[in-house]
Amino acid sequence: MPGEFNLIETYFSNQQANRDDVVLGQGDDCALVSPPADCYIAISTDTLVCGTHFLASACPADIAHKALASNLSDLAAMGATPAWVSMGISMPEVNEPWLASFCGAFFELANQHDIQLIGGDTTKGPLTITLTVQGFVPIGQALTRGQARDGDGIYVTGTLGDAKAGLDIILKTRLSMQADINQTLEKRHYRSTPQIFAGTQLRGIASAAIDISDGLIADLGHILSRSQRGAIIDTEQLPISNELLHFAQSDILARQYALTSGEEYQLCFTVPQQHQQKLEQQLAGIPYSRIGQITNSGHIVLHEQGCEVDWELAGYDHFKDH
Ligand code: ADP
Ligand code: MG
Repeated sequence: MPGEFNLIETYFSNQQANRDDVVLGQGDDCALVSPPADCYIAISTDTLVCGTHFLASACPADIAHKALASNLSDLAAMGATPAWVSMGISMPEVNEPWLASFCGAFFELANQHDIQLIGGDTTKGPLTITLTVQGFVPIGQALTRGQARDGDGIYVTGTLGDAKAGLDIILKTRLSMQADINQTLEKRHYRSTPQIFAGTQLRGIASAAIDISDGLIADLGHILSRSQRGAIIDTEQLPISNELLHFAQSDILARQYALTSGEEYQLCFTVPQQHQQKLEQQLAGIPYSRIGQITNSGHIVLHEQGCEVDWELAGYDHFKDH
């Protein structure tokens, strides 16, 4: 790609964050970093492909935010504190206003979480962004998927369903009659807030955790299959925003959105009875809801007003009989 070094220099090398543990950042053959002795390094990679994860018409700042937020969310789900990120980006052409907007939003979110861009690769090709994030988690305190036990409460942070409603609005498959509601939900689709603080506060309390990237039913399904357990979800306890309720125009439809909406980047986690009080203290000030309980049944049962409901949900049947 012509001017590759200038591009890197101009757009990717001017982040304010300057971490003490980055011995050598961008510009050499490798970055050199110095991890703390008492922590494991949590590492995760996510790719966003134009046409699959965002539309070609999407605003570059939204794409950058979504790419980094989805990666940070994986660190959050592990209970890790963000430290470093590398970026592989391919672009069909050099579009400087696009790059300026992309990097502006990328560094804004990166600085908020004190995560430093330490290297990457820039090539010509279809628009694709691959990030590898690394963070620290004290040895023995990572939040994994496999330790949920019978009777543990099931919880989620924030509200659920807005990201799917936002996608409907972007694709124009369903719209609210109110323009401001459409705008808010569309923004929530691209501009989710990774739950880093909640994740670190859950260390030593949650028995299992995952971030909601494929939808609650599918992602809780991953905890259940890893833990070899089932769950009862009380659909009335699903946290739903006023905007989603307005958009869906029905409690039941809003709950179905909450159960299947992907790219929420909220956390779903389980907590044993003996840690419930500690949970209240640790998550004080963070919105979260108890939505159900782990069982030994091996599948997910949905309850509505105490009765089992059999909703046809995308991704639901797949996890019914694991
Ligand atoms: P190499 O030929 O050794 O792969 P490059 O020319 O690809 O080196 O990159 C030069 C430097 O710029 C490297 O330190 C690399 O990590 C960094 N870099 C390249 N692209 C990016 C990017 N998109 N974001 C951050 N750093 C980048
Ligand atoms: Mg390279």
